[in-house]
Amino acid sequence: MTDADQREVEELKSYLSARDVVCPSCAYNLRGLTADVCPECRQSLRLGVSLAEPRLGWWLCGVVGAGFGCGLNSLLLYYIAIQWVARGWSLGRTFMDWFIIMNVGGAAVMGVVLAAMLKFGRRLRRLSTGKRIAIAGVCWLLTLADATVFSLTIK
Ligand SMILES: [Zn+2]
Repeated sequence: MTDADQREVEELKSYLSARDVVCPSCAYNLRGLTADVCPECRQSLRLGVSLAEPRLGWWLCGVVGAGFGCGLNSLLLYYIAIQWVARGWSLGRTFMDWFIIMNVGGAAVMGVVLAAMLKFGRRLRRLSTGKRIAIAGVCWLLTLADATVFSLTIK
């Protein structure tokens, strides 16, 4: 253990010496802790700084919106796969082809949007409130467009 690590452990113990703070994992009261490990769940602890308001709301709204689209298409593909296994290719070639093309396409587009929301989440959460609302709106509009195109093209 380096001197810096040892200093961090001492600061953690000092901080917890007279405070009732619960373990973020198991909620055990850490007052009077003598090491940098929770005595209840055995996980390592460290003293840190966290945001009072982490700006998750609009970003999560966008993640849920994109997740709905990706999830809808994925579940429809799962549905048609089960139909295929249980009943064979009985719904007509054109219908099946379109059903699969529309849902693979939708799942791919919405999957990329969802992956981008997760990959760039830290950067997106730093944007202004207006931009975060706009991005959440775009995610939901893409999902609605996806479902609308699917509904209108499947016959
Ligand atoms: Zn714990």
